[in-house]
Amino acid sequence: MAIEIDHLGIAVRSLEEGLRFYEDALGMAVSGREKIAAEQVEVAMLPAGAGTNPPRIELLEATGEASPIARYIEKRGPGLHHIALRVDDLENTIERLKSEGARVLQEPRRGAGGHLYVFVHPATTGGVLLELIQKEPVKD
Ligand code: ZN
Repeated sequence: MAIEIDHLGIAVRSLEEGLRFYEDALGMAVSGREKIAAEQVEVAMLPAGAGTNPPRIELLEATGEASPIARYIEKRGPGLHHIALRVDDLENTIERLKSEGARVLQEPRRGAGGHLYVFVHPATTGGVLLELIQKEPVKD
């Protein structure tokens, strides 16, 4: 089974502020912006690699006070919030992780681009909040 880096999620106070560095100063290009209601965030994706499905930097701005990103920034300030890996079979991966004692934080949800995802608690991932994403998007 191939596991690939999908994106690195960086919590920012505002996308404008984040893009001033990653887009304006560093010269990366935004491939898409999206609001994800379930997480109360707006994200900007910046590809960082070659090919049709490159890994990306994901800038995350909270859109509400209950957003995990708002709580994260309140506690620790802006910074690396999570890393996301792409897997072929999310259900299968979740089952295996649960049987190994990992804390999968919720049922799969539908996120950016129609891809199902879950988060895994940092306690079992080396201290990093880990997002797992189903490679193929859900079809309508
Ligand atoms: Zn993410």
